Formats: sequence, structure tokens, C-alpha cells
Amino acid sequence: MTQTIPATLISGDGIGPEIMSSVTTVMKALDAPFVWEHHAAGMGALEAEGTPLPESTLDSLRRTGLALKGPLTTPVGTGFRSINVTLRQQFGLYANLRPTKTIVPGGRFENVDLVVVRENIEGLYAAMEHYLPVGDDPEAVAYGAGFNTRAECNRIVRFAFEYAVANNRKKVTLVHKANILKILSGIFLHEGRRVAAEYEGRIAVEERIVDACAMELVIKPENYDVIVTTNLFGDILSDLAAGLVGGLGMAPGANIGEKVAVFEAVHGSAPDIAGKGVANPLALMMAGSMMLAHVGRQDLSGRLDMAIEQVVTSGGIRTRDLGGTATTQDVTQALLQAIQ
Ligand code: ATP
Ligand code: MG
Repeated sequence: MTQTIPATLISGDGIGPEIMSSVTTVMKALDAPFVWEHHAAGMGALEAEGTPLPESTLDSLRRTGLALKGPLTTPVGTGFRSINVTLRQQFGLYANLRPTKTIVPGGRFENVDLVVVRENIEGLYAAMEHYLPVGDDPEAVAYGAGFNTRAECNRIVRFAFEYAVANNRKKVTLVHKANILKILSGIFLHEGRRVAAEYEGRIAVEERIVDACAMELVIKPENYDVIVTTNLFGDILSDLAAGLVGGLGMAPGANIGEKVAVFEAVHGSAPDIAGKGVANPLALMMAGSMMLAHVGRQDLSGRLDMAIEQVVTSGGIRTRDLGGTATTQDVTQALLQAIQ
């Protein structure tokens, strides 16, 4: 008998329930090992339980250490913090993993297959910012600071190299701005070089200044394999990369810590199309595939990836965001056929 793995499932807001139902249907047909613990978060949880992040949901996550999460709307003007940021900090989800691969043909690039590993906790998003007064203007100067620790730079670069080894990748590019931010970005580059040396002969290493990297990504994205970088640069470059290959509907992500890993689609709740049955479930589907690989089921992950590719290419089943007319249901049905 195959081993079962308990996992927390959060359907989320907006298009969340529609795309999540597609994913669980396909997972079941794949005979995926997950035993889902259904829990609420986001707007739905606020309405039902009075908080956007109920303790029962956090408890489940602590127990399972594994979650598939739909898009969450953080209620505005209610004093609640961003749910995604809270999860990241509560569980120390230090690594944000964003794979980008050409799947839909006829796009700008045919052979993109890269992964951005973004440091998720430190850097310039530490939000240590405030105004300074000058004369009678109390907000004359906006001041912001960030920090990077040697330990965290080491951990995130090591994560990228270990990911490269485990996923048969050939090269890791350290992306920085150490020519200007000599200390803040310099510590990342120096620590990165030290880690890279340990992988010499196994995984190639390359260095790029972030501005040059941005330009190269839109000219020759095929040159990149694994990119590892600090928080702000990673945020921007990972969205840039998603745009190279079909946009938000095709962009999965994972937030990974020492004890907990949360898999999700990069896009939001898309309230404009919620409830219409036309959302693209593939970003969340690919997040599910990453989750399978994460628990060692590369076999099922590979089968799912192949099915997705087949459906959108030779099958020509595409939702509106990909220029097609298919519904969420159409995509689900096509996937079920493809994995037979
Ligand atoms: P949120 O406030 O939750 O972030 P949003 O309005 O910013 O939601 P996003 O989901 O971030 O919306 O994406 C912006 C737009 O992209 C959506 O309004 C929607 O039209 C489109 N979009 C996003 N995800 C999908 C998807 N899975 N399938 C189809 N279209 C999508
Ligand atoms: Mg959004």
C-alpha cells in the first residue's frame, strides 16, 4: 500500500474554490498520496469564524507541515495583517520558489525553463520605514532600511543549490547589486560564493547584477536555469519571468521553511471572473505538481506535468487568459483523460 500524507487544504477566496476543486479531482485520479484536511482562511474565514486566519487552520498546518492554498483576500480596513505575510513569518517560510517554463506554444519564447529562488523574510521588505520631518512638513523625507544576515544568505543560496541537485538542474545564478549596495547586497554575494564553492564540479555558478539580469531575461531567458536572489529583486524578477511564458494563470509558487511548505498559485482571487467557471486552474495544478515532487513523488509530478503540457498544446484546451474559450471544467476533464 502506498503511504498516505496528511496535508492542509485551503480553498481560498474568489476563484479559489473553482480551481481547487479542479486540482483535487485531478489529484484523486492520479492516486496522489495526500489526505486533505480542509480548513478556511481569508475572506471566507472572516465571515464564518470572525478571523481571516483561524487557529484551527494554523494548528492543521503545524501538524501536517504541508499545505495547498488557494488565493486569499486579506480584508482591508479591518486591522488584520496580510495573511500571506503572517504565514510566512509564523512558519519561517524563508524560500519562495517560482518555476517558469514555456508550455503554451506561440508565445515569445519557446525554451524557457527556469526557477527563481527568492529569499522571503529579510532584505528591503523588512518594512523598517518611517517619515522624517523637515521644517513644518512632518513627512518631508521617507526613510527605509533593510537587512540581510549572513546565516540567511547562506541558507537561501544553499537551498537553491540543493534544489538544483535534487531537480537535475545545471547552473545557479547569484543575482545581486553589490556594486552599489556594497554591504547589504555584498553579504549575499560573498556568502553565495562560499556556498557555491562547495558545489564546484557538480553545479555551475554564475553571477549577475540585477539590472543586467532583468535585461537578459527579456532577451535570452533560455540562458537561465536556477536564479537565487534577495527579497526585493526576487519579487520583481519572478513576476517578470511569469510574464515571459503566459502570465499569471500559468505561474505556480511555493513558500518553504524548515518544517512547513505551502504551495500556491501566484495569482490572486480574481474577483472579476469568480463564480463564472472560466478561471484557469493550471497555476494551482502546477503548484500541486510541485507539492508532489516535494514529498518525493516525482513519478506523479512528472505525469501531471506531461498531462498539463498535452492539454494546452496538442489538446488545444485553453482558458480565456491563454487566448482560448475553454472553461475550468473543460480543462479538468481534458486532464483526467490525459492522465489515464
Ligand atoms: P487579489 O486582490 O486577490 O490579488 P486581483 O484582482 O489582484 O486579486 P489577480 O488574481 O492578482 O487579481 O489577477 C489579476 C487579473 O488576472 C484578474 O483580475 C484576472 O482577470 C486575471 N487572472 C488571474 N488569475 C487568473 C486565472 N487563474 N485564470 C484566469 N484569469 C486570471
Ligand atoms: Mg493581485
